[in-house]
Amino acid sequence: MLQISDKQFEDLIGQALDELPQEYVQRLLKDVAVTWADDPTPAQREQLKLRHDQTLFGLYEGLPLTQRYNGMHKITPDKITIFKHPVLSVSPSEYALRNQIKNTVWHEMAHYFGLDHKRIHELE
Ligand SMILES: [Zn+2]
Repeated sequence: MLQISDKQFEDLIGQALDELPQEYVQRLLKDVAVTWADDPTPAQREQLKLRHDQTLFGLYEGLPLTQRYNGMHKITPDKITIFKHPVLSVSPSEYALRNQIKNTVWHEMAHYFGLDHKRIHELE
């Protein structure tokens, strides 16, 4: 597996955000914290009803824009988490890693904008 420090991983997420379409990124960052963790927690896996053989590269937690209405009071801040170990496990090179991070950030961003998986895969 590639050896990537936490700092490097964080930098790669920052670079992915720089490379994605800025009109979406700027909107996203006003409202959503983009962070990372080594692995999903058992609670996060549970929430998504993941099987043991399923990996999770990233997770969007929050209320998609399309499900909000004006003047609504949001209870928790929205968050996108990128999972370092699963992403590294499928990335044989730094080039592959960059792409995987970018695709994962894009995928989770799309959830924030209210796209479902069918629509996201069409765009990927
Ligand atoms: Zn998804």
